[in-house]
Amino acid sequence: MRILVIEDEEVIARAVQRGLRADGFAVDIAGDGQDGLWMAREHHYDAIVLDILLPGMNGFRVCRQLREEANWTPILMLTAKDGELDEAEALDTGADDYLVKPFSYVVLVARLRALIRRGAGERPSALRAGSLLLDRASHRCSRGDVDISLTPREFSILELLMSRAGEALSKREIIEHVWDEDFDGDGNIVEVYVGYLRRKLDAPFGCHSLETVRGVGYRLSPDGG
Ligand code: CA
Repeated sequence: MRILVIEDEEVIARAVQRGLRADGFAVDIAGDGQDGLWMAREHHYDAIVLDILLPGMNGFRVCRQLREEANWTPILMLTAKDGELDEAEALDTGADDYLVKPFSYVVLVARLRALIRRGAGERPSALRAGSLLLDRASHRCSRGDVDISLTPREFSILELLMSRAGEALSKREIIEHVWDEDFDGDGNIVEVYVGYLRRKLDAPFGCHSLETVRGVGYRLSPDGG
């Protein structure tokens, strides 16, 4: 899951980025409204964290503009303390939720996950493919009744493949979704991670859920292999 954070206070932006990355999200930062708008148009994000007070173009305008362009990426707006009017206006301009500064990081992650689930309207908290189960809420993965421990990165890749089970995804698509802008390595990293996942999800169970689609990329079999 890839998140855009539009926040000019670098200390806050970096802290949010660090925290979300540790939770397995890919996170890009924009330091002002114009940059944020540009990035939101250029890339597909699963959610946007948007500060209101930004140099150049404020958060309300960024939000309104995106909605006018029919960009429905879930937006969580950051409002100042005691800014009751801010909160009403945030929702009026098309934000999906708001959080009052200073906020707890745990609350931020919970709200983002809730928004992402709600966002597409068809993102159940648990994804299933045959005997393979991935629960986003509790961050757990299992095959049948065996729990499988995944790193945040492995979890993210599997989440993407399972949410689009049956579809072949290119390495590029996977990288764009799971890594962020700072990633400048090559596509072979995907191969490496698919290898890790196969060793955990398939090999011990004699399954073949992660298929290589020649010349395209990878596909998760909807029946879980
Ligand atoms: Ca600010």
